[in-house]
Amino acid sequence: MCGIFGYSGPKNASQIILEGLKRLEYRGYDSWGIALGIQNSKFPGLAPRSGAGKIQNLFVEKHVGAIGDIKTFNFKLLTLNSHVGIGHTRWATHGGITEVNAHPHCSSDKSFCLAQNGIVENYQKLKQDLVKLGYKFQTQTDTEVIVRLIEHKFSLQPRRPSAVSLRPNRLQGNLMQSVREAFLELEGRNTIIVLNNKGGIIAARNGSPLVVGLGSQARPGVPSEVYFSSDTLSFAPFVEKIVVIDNGQMVYLKNHALEILDIKSNKTIPYSLEKINFKSSKVEKQGYSHFMLKEICESPYVIRQVLNQNLKQYQIFAKALKRAKNIYTIGSGTAGIAASQIAFYLRIFGKIKAQSVIGADIYDYFDLLGKGDVMIAPSQSGETADVLEVLEIAKRKGVKIASYVNMPGSTMSRMSDYKFASNAGPEICVMSTKVFTSQIAWGYLLGKVISGKGKVGRENLKNLADQIEQYLVSEKNHRLLKNLAKKLAHGKDIFLLGKYQNLNIVKEGMVKIIEGSYIHAHGIPAGDLKHYAITLMEKGVPVIFAVSEDVSFDDVINAVNQVKARGATVIGISAKPHSSFDYHIPVPDSGETSAIMNIIPLQVLAYYMAVQLGHNVDKPRNIAKSVTVK
Ligand code: GLU
Repeated sequence: MCGIFGYSGPKNASQIILEGLKRLEYRGYDSWGIALGIQNSKFPGLAPRSGAGKIQNLFVEKHVGAIGDIKTFNFKLLTLNSHVGIGHTRWATHGGITEVNAHPHCSSDKSFCLAQNGIVENYQKLKQDLVKLGYKFQTQTDTEVIVRLIEHKFSLQPRRPSAVSLRPNRLQGNLMQSVREAFLELEGRNTIIVLNNKGGIIAARNGSPLVVGLGSQARPGVPSEVYFSSDTLSFAPFVEKIVVIDNGQMVYLKNHALEILDIKSNKTIPYSLEKINFKSSKVEKQGYSHFMLKEICESPYVIRQVLNQNLKQYQIFAKALKRAKNIYTIGSGTAGIAASQIAFYLRIFGKIKAQSVIGADIYDYFDLLGKGDVMIAPSQSGETADVLEVLEIAKRKGVKIASYVNMPGSTMSRMSDYKFASNAGPEICVMSTKVFTSQIAWGYLLGKVISGKGKVGRENLKNLADQIEQYLVSEKNHRLLKNLAKKLAHGKDIFLLGKYQNLNIVKEGMVKIIEGSYIHAHGIPAGDLKHYAITLMEKGVPVIFAVSEDVSFDDVINAVNQVKARGATVIGISAKPHSSFDYHIPVPDSGETSAIMNIIPLQVLAYYMAVQLGHNVDKPRNIAKSVTVK
């Protein structure tokens, strides 16, 4: 789930790439690296397009850890005269987190460097073959196999006159063909970016995302500056137009112009430029100590964004859902829990049979998918590998795809028959908060629209946004949660119990606590407690209940009393206090949308626990935000 970035243009490449990588760090922050084409010092400051600043060599710098954690950029590479380069931020899948395993990886003769996002699934076989041919390996990554394979393909290519290949910003035809041939042999989902020592950039996509951004004066064929990246957000401040590269396509700069090639057929394909409408490139903390808190505080905004959407689009989709044979909702991690809550709302309010599945584990459904079915995918990035794989299979079987995605231009929305955009703005903290809230609010409204009560649903969400806003500005609420976090942060196990509309909410609370605190948490149906987890209830064990005044109320209070009787410490999130609560987290009564209200204190609690433990709140260990590898 790495992030890849590339730049070619008049600006200082290292600065642009480092800034881009900082924005991509949510995709992985084990290590990072950058490769620059260094220009002839006789012509300092000249852009490659002038033709004067010849690239002399490649300069590579790699570091273990996250760039964002480095306070000031004081690297030599910022002072280097370079207008072209590539960068990578890594989430290790193959090979330890070491400097040598950090991308980009260079060819033996240092004529090109490469970075990958993805996994080469057949890397062992390819490596064995290459070793037999005499190729030496320096790293433990699967990625190095691509580099050696390109070298090998290159060695088999007929040479071109060197005069042609020496032109700045121009690729040797045979390197491009070598990349293409090597790429065709890779199995798995991967996207690569290559920089050669002539200042040329080639990128190829299969599975992992790739977007190209063009600077302000760009027209097809003549871009003034070109950005390559795993997402639009990373270059949003500098770019006006984008081209989303599809699977099976390769993109490169030829005579300063952008060309796109179909990898299989080797034919150039025409492209058109899309105007970018993601100018909200605000990736600053704006006074908050962490992005997580800032993003939780944006919950009212994201709910209002749900209300700003075109009602007609909901109505069209609601009709399709009423006609559908089977309805599935799908996601992974937090989005998987959101998918489950969306299915809940579709059943409860829409009265339609929707079932949720998780992206990583639905093989058992494959034979059942078919024409007439609809699959709904909520996703922050729209690039989650295991979900995309299922959607691709479902689509081939005739299932209609619907998505609710936050990142513009994502693969998921591009493949969808019904596309909804959450427009929640960038979510930088790796732990998803505001996007989850947006996803379940969307599911709630969809359920209401299906039932013909869209207007009531909108009114309820409007009130909910106001209630959450008031809740989050109250110092008292923060103090209470902060104090509770201090008590919980040093525990061993935390249980979270909920029923009906709150079951997914406590599961999401569990996810947030695990992600931020690295403490074992367990979210279970309140009613299931007595079937097994009751054995764990003893003095002092913290049990958090999310309680709403709905059909489940009495059952949940029974569970409260059952754990209380065994000495557990009961923490209740509810509108009204209860005598069995040891701690009460009061929330406004928000009726039908009560579950959406209840997630807010759980997110804030998880935030203060992570802070209390001194963890890297916005970048918890080992995870990445956008899981684009399987
Ligand atoms: N497989 C590559 C590595 O471990 C890239 C990983 C990724 O994209 O997450 O270095």
